[in-house]
Amino acid sequence: MGTQPERGTWEHRPLVLVLRPAEQPTAKVTHYAVRASRTFFVLPEHYSVCRLCDEIPPCTHATTEAAIDREMENAERLMAIQPGCCLGCGEPITARMKTERFPGSNLWRPDLGDGSAVFHTRAGCQDYVSMYRKQWQAKGIEDAQMTLPGPNEG
Ligand SMILES: [Zn+2]
Ligand SMILES: [Zn+2]
Repeated sequence: MGTQPERGTWEHRPLVLVLRPAEQPTAKVTHYAVRASRTFFVLPEHYSVCRLCDEIPPCTHATTEAAIDREMENAERLMAIQPGCCLGCGEPITARMKTERFPGSNLWRPDLGDGSAVFHTRAGCQDYVSMYRKQWQAKGIEDAQMTLPGPNEG
């Protein structure tokens, strides 16, 4: 694969990509029309491949495992949070602290009851607030769609 033209100047310039599997040097090549403005990563002659997935790291397998680990950690963290505490840092919320509370069922800890999803507004808890808000808004849209009559009703 040759050098790419300057990205900015050749936004839609077509480029022909010629591919042949690395382990089949005699195989027929495949031609692909691609855009020159795309970035292609050129591997060195000696590159590592995952033993399990045969993919270049980070492979799907490792990415999925990392996601599951994060998910488990998050679930454990959430289960340890006491009622009335911040769903972000897990620390208690005192009367003087500013908070952000979400109405409706608690999406992360349904066992705590409706309207119990509360966070500190401080910077350290904001990532959790935006994460929760995204899920909360998505659920709001879902609920609204469920209450709307279907296209063949009414
Ligand atoms: Zn793998
Ligand atoms: Zn907090």
